[in-house]
Amino acid sequence: MTDRVDANQPPPLVDYNVFEADAPLGEALEREGGAWAHDLVHELGRLAGTQKAIDWGFHANAHPPHLRTHDRFGERIDEVEFHPAWHELMRVAVGHGLHALPWREPRPGAHAARAAAFYVWSQVEGGHCCPVSMTYAALPTLRKSPRLAAKWEPLMTSLDYDPGLVPVTSKKGVLFGMAMTERQGGSDVRANTTRAEPAGVEGEFSLTGQKWFCSAPMCDAFLVLAQAPDGLSCFLVPRVLPDGTRNRFHILRLKDKLGNRSNASAEVELGGAWAVMVGEEGRGVRTIIDMVNHTRLDCVIGSASLMRHAVAQATHHAAHRSAFGKLLSEQPLMVNVLADLAVESEATTVLMMRLAGAFDRDAEPAEAHFRRIGVAVAKFWTTKRAIAVVAEALECLGGNGYVEESILPRLYREAPLNSIWEGSGNVNALDVLRAMQREPESVAAYFGEVESAPRDARLDRAVAELKRELKATADLESRARRLVERMAVVLQASLLLRHGDPLVGEIFCASRLDGDWGHSFGSLKPRPQLESVIERHRPQLYSG
Ligand SMILES: Cc1cc2nc3c(=O)[nH]c(=O)nc-3n(C[C@H](O)[C@H](O)[C@H](O)COP(=O)(O)OP(=O)(O)OC[C@H]3O[C@@H](n4cnc5c(N)ncnc54)[C@H](O)[C@@H]3O)c2cc1C
Repeated sequence: MTDRVDANQPPPLVDYNVFEADAPLGEALEREGGAWAHDLVHELGRLAGTQKAIDWGFHANAHPPHLRTHDRFGERIDEVEFHPAWHELMRVAVGHGLHALPWREPRPGAHAARAAAFYVWSQVEGGHCCPVSMTYAALPTLRKSPRLAAKWEPLMTSLDYDPGLVPVTSKKGVLFGMAMTERQGGSDVRANTTRAEPAGVEGEFSLTGQKWFCSAPMCDAFLVLAQAPDGLSCFLVPRVLPDGTRNRFHILRLKDKLGNRSNASAEVELGGAWAVMVGEEGRGVRTIIDMVNHTRLDCVIGSASLMRHAVAQATHHAAHRSAFGKLLSEQPLMVNVLADLAVESEATTVLMMRLAGAFDRDAEPAEAHFRRIGVAVAKFWTTKRAIAVVAEALECLGGNGYVEESILPRLYREAPLNSIWEGSGNVNALDVLRAMQREPESVAAYFGEVESAPRDARLDRAVAELKRELKATADLESRARRLVERMAVVLQASLLLRHGDPLVGEIFCASRLDGDWGHSFGSLKPRPQLESVIERHRPQLYSG
């Protein structure tokens, strides 16, 4: 048998603390006021680095969920069966409050703490984070109907993962999903045709129509958009009715997806489903937008998490694999690639934590305005960058990176999803324009943020150029991506200059702002300190 050293194969990246190994995250958690949650994130980081948790992730993806529409007697049951590993992942996520932490502990830094925890744990497996995220995000929307919130909130914030379709009254904890997208339009939800007819009791309706994408259909309840007599409105649709019978929520089929395979995404028929209105009739988009804002934050966190995991795998591999008589991590060109990836990952982690902090502080008007525009800017850009970062990190592992066991293929398939759901790239870029027009204070808050960095000639030039671009009103829609991309990069540069590792900030500004860079990763200007950037990002195994 060939032993590991002779085969020149790196040891598996296991038995390390995913949180401890992540200096930018640890620094940001403190800075954004979440230091009180250190032990929780540390514990999740420990668990995320264990073989047991890594195996759960692999099993949950190797055995995707399975739809059972009917029971053996031909009765509709509309149930989705998951591999036990899925339930283990969910139990950890819910047990650590990733679906509810800021609502359970509404203290300063709670969203930042939850962001750090969610980022760490989603490195194990991305698919199960979908219902976790939707449950976290649904609560602010539900609170628009205080009576409904009073009933559901204690169960939505419980740390008990209690799967299965049984009456809510006999549950210890519940999960929420959402159903907006229809066949004829996902971005343009105003084109929804699902009808909501009054059911005879005030606030109760009967929903008829189809939803084209409805993820995690085994959740206990869904926030659904449908056309009521006074226009598009938001409804709560439970899977099980108060009398214990099943609601008319029929799962037609599960999608065969590129990635996110552990998670079920269904086509659903609402055949006169019982529903309760949430918020005001005719204000459905305005009601559900709070949920969307929180899930958009999670798309940023998910993208940061994918980048971080990919960089961890790539830096680890290169530190143990030799070619042409030297470790890959000693080859100048590989050093350039890894450092460039690490810089991009750090810029994203810092941005994601800054945004989560804005959710914590959104009672302050400037923070609320910053959050309004910042989420759309970051959602657009970080979800795009994750795709490129994961692809390049995969190549750092050579052929091994193309093989499932390395985990990189799973990260690669997962990456584009964050850029599609919760508003695809163009829709987010256009949302930034909408924020500028409807809430000009958000632009002021954005510039207030970027101009609070220490003076730097490159940043000053980029800010001045951005202001010029924003002033020009011609072809605004067509220029939206260009503008938003620049806004994101300028914001990242300013955050790194203020808070990041000085060398990382310097490299980011030289490459991303000043143009001393190519079109692929690994085109940084050579400098002797690139190796130290890699060391900042390379995970250390417990055994050293
Ligand atoms: C795995 C997965 C799970 C999902 N889960 C859910 C779920 O649980 N609940 C739910 O409601 N939805 C869900 N979705 C749906 C998702 O939110 C939509 O696919 C997304 O919003 C895009 O809508 P669409 O597919 O109808 O594309 P379209 O709206 O047709 O958009 C197609 C393209 O056109 C672009 N575009 C749209 N409008 C404009 C414009 N004005 N200018 C320029 N470009 C434009 C978009 O950016 C996009 O690139 C899920 C999707 C996926 C892939």
